[in-house]
Amino acid sequence: MTTTLITGATKGLGLETARRLTAAGHTVYLGARDAGRGAEAAAALGARLLLIDVTSDDSVRAAAEQVRAEVGHLDVLVNNAGISGGRKPPGEVTASDMRAVYDTNVFGVVRVTHAFLPLLADSGAPVIVNVSSGMGSLAVTTDPARFESTLLGLAYPSSKSALNMITSQYAKAYPAIRINAVDPGYTATDLNGHRGTQTVQEGAEIIVSGALVSGARAGHLPAVPPGGRGPIGGSIT
Ligand code: NAP
Repeated sequence: MTTTLITGATKGLGLETARRLTAAGHTVYLGARDAGRGAEAAAALGARLLLIDVTSDDSVRAAAEQVRAEVGHLDVLVNNAGISGGRKPPGEVTASDMRAVYDTNVFGVVRVTHAFLPLLADSGAPVIVNVSSGMGSLAVTTDPARFESTLLGLAYPSSKSALNMITSQYAKAYPAIRINAVDPGYTATDLNGHRGTQTVQEGAEIIVSGALVSGARAGHLPAVPPGGRGPIGGSIT
């Protein structure tokens, strides 16, 4: 039985990923920072609730201890929790705005990965999927043919660029763990006021593929064709 943790799984892409992986037979820990909404979502899917706020060392530590006590290991970690930080023009963004976004999108991933690496080490086939974005890609955001090149932002795009490099470095440091960053594409969720052009079913597809990967080398899932949706792994620059 594959044991999987998805952070930020109360709604949006995380919830849809939890639905798909539960249906695929995984024992899913549905990560939530709100106990009520988390319990409701977990019950609806037949998943287990795991209270986890990725910005809190204590919360993340307690979550890892719970999984250790209940299962003893973790097979798949999906670092999905993320925030946009709003839509201020770059010139108005403060260091404090940046810190808030990084605390979730960057430090949150490191906090959770650091806490769960010992549990992943006890898996026979460990996998980490970091939910990144084309907005973190220098190539995509400077390509006039790509929609992402029309969006301006400081905190969110740079947080995802940092996440891409963090993913690459973890992948090199832990060749026994299949570690990839994935881009769901522009998806209608609360994160973007539901302006995204894809459904959560479409967006979650690449996250689910990353979680189910078996043959790909760490950091090198096959890239999508040029202009296509969802560059992943080594294809994010
Ligand atoms: P969403 O619907 O707003 O969901 C975000 C999830 O993250 C929620 O469950 C939220 O919990 C959780 N979260 C936020 N801060 C957290 C924290 N400190 N601790 C734990 N959980 C926290 O957004 P989404 O679009 O599904 O985003 C999921 C991921 O996909 C993010 O990493 C995002 O950057 C990425 N992504 C999204 C798109 C897109 O177009 N939607 C495109 C590319 C990448 P609450 O319910 O408690 O707020």
